[in-house]
Amino acid sequence: MKKLIFLGPPGAGKGTQAQRFQERYGLVQLSTGDMLRAAINAGSDLGNKVKDIMARGDLVPDDVVVGIIAERIAQPDIKAGYILDGFPRNVAQAEALDEMLCSRNDRLDAVIELRVDKGALLGRIETRAAATVGGAREDDNAEALSKRLEVYNAQTAPLVEYYGHRGVLKTVDGMQDIDQVTHQIETLLEL
Ligand code: AMP
Repeated sequence: MKKLIFLGPPGAGKGTQAQRFQERYGLVQLSTGDMLRAAINAGSDLGNKVKDIMARGDLVPDDVVVGIIAERIAQPDIKAGYILDGFPRNVAQAEALDEMLCSRNDRLDAVIELRVDKGALLGRIETRAAATVGGAREDDNAEALSKRLEVYNAQTAPLVEYYGHRGVLKTVDGMQDIDQVTHQIETLLEL
């Protein structure tokens, strides 16, 4: 059972790559962003609580996402393993994940950092917004995006060092084309 994190700024290709590894290897993509958007679409209490926060590009409270992930990784459909896509987003979440795994007598196999040029991200997200069936994400506009990048740099980027110190970080050049990135990750994970 492989337990992985795909780490990188918005537009780095985490979701695209995670989907491929789900299809090819049965690793379940656990995207907190997708789960929260599903809650919003369902009109649940949780969705109503996070809707405005997400629309402006801020992080939702740690206990919300930590609770979602704790529940999800315990489900029986996860057999080959999982890929955390968009979680953890800050050091407090990373520590909560460590505790969660530790209490299950478990540990991460690898954290894959998708490294991309900051200048390329806006263009990538514009492409995603244009290609999304059923309309763009509410937070794929210029204002929310610049907030998301600011939040990434301030809160999520420190996780590169956090996991680097723990010896589980593997960095991939996310500027290559999609197939090359997939191939490089497969090689690093010995898949
Ligand atoms: P994403 O789809 O990963 O880009 O996430 C979209 C939005 O969902 C983020 O801008 C946050 O508002 C929220 N979100 C997703 N994952 C997390 C997380 N781990 N912690 C806090 N907020 C999150």
